[in-house]
Amino acid sequence: MAELRPLIDKLKEDRILSHDEFVRMFTCRNPEDSEYLRSLAQETAVANYGHDIFLRGLIEFTNYCRNDCLYCGIRRSNSKAERYRLTSEEILDCCEIGYGFGLRTFVLQGGEDMTYSDESFCELIREIKRRYPDCAVTLSVGERPRKTYEAYYEAGADRYLLRHETSSPEHYAMLHPAELTIENRKRCLSDLKDIGFQIGAGFMVGSPYQTYDYLAEDFAYLKELEPHMIGIGPFIHHADTPFAKMPDGSYEETLYCLAMLRLMFPRVLLPATTALGTIDPLGREEGIRHGANVIMPSLSPKDVRQKYLLYDGKICTGEEAAECHACLEGRIARIGYKAVSARGDHADWVRK
Ligand code: SAM
Repeated sequence: MAELRPLIDKLKEDRILSHDEFVRMFTCRNPEDSEYLRSLAQETAVANYGHDIFLRGLIEFTNYCRNDCLYCGIRRSNSKAERYRLTSEEILDCCEIGYGFGLRTFVLQGGEDMTYSDESFCELIREIKRRYPDCAVTLSVGERPRKTYEAYYEAGADRYLLRHETSSPEHYAMLHPAELTIENRKRCLSDLKDIGFQIGAGFMVGSPYQTYDYLAEDFAYLKELEPHMIGIGPFIHHADTPFAKMPDGSYEETLYCLAMLRLMFPRVLLPATTALGTIDPLGREEGIRHGANVIMPSLSPKDVRQKYLLYDGKICTGEEAAECHACLEGRIARIGYKAVSARGDHADWVRK
């Protein structure tokens, strides 16, 4: 076997492959080459970050959403979703708890909930930065006009996560309603980067109708964009969405993609996501063994966690933040790594 070894070595050396070579990486995936790829990816992560794992405190502050993405459990058409939104005070309480655990990044993630005005959201960002000047604020609140992104940045936000989901217009249209376009998504990502944010893009592995051609295009798009962070995880169905009967993404393929991304982007911030931990009980640990170096424990209040249900079976929905945090620290330590208390910025980033 070992037929992919030359391609894997090429990916490590050149940090890019041609479209056809990427496709071959997927179609010819086999256990022996996967292990070779994994070991190189882990070596690369350790060479760049040692055995440090950055933790990000995730605050899922609203599940109201104006969008109707076909894969997502909090899409506006899901009338069964029990909606909630946290007040600024509740969000600040989450930060206080997280700061006590040593977390130095707060990620504010939610649906596109338009009841938070730009002004009130900026005020919240300013207040977090005032109370915790040593912490990074990451936002993940979807597509907004450039002016809004500028206001967030000026208020002190440092990073922005917006998965591109798929770079193919054709595939994008299969996953989203007509009012959402890949052109606007890419516009958002390039605006965010231009403004000065550390940006995170990414996609779901095994999303409905995904082909290896589309996946190869995703890798090529990421190379072009050069994001500071890349979030990938398996697609997992949600019973109350149009994709309820679609098969979940493959665990092994997700790990394989993580390892490929680590070789392509040796210094990128690469989370082992909650979806990966949902599809397999040891998914996050395996993610780290495949080159991931970030984990995002939830800081959301216990009573809302089970309502931020993007997909069925989501883990960590029944625990208090403290339990979640202790559990993750233990998991990281058991595989010989260390959860560190640091902002964990991308090495090449400085605030404009
Ligand atoms: N509204 C913001 C946005 O769209 O970027 C942030 C929240 S959104 C729910 C966060 C991410 O969850 C999406 O980018 C998507 O990739 C992921 N997601 C949604 N539904 C999923 C599913 N069924 N399986 C796996 N991941 C899912």
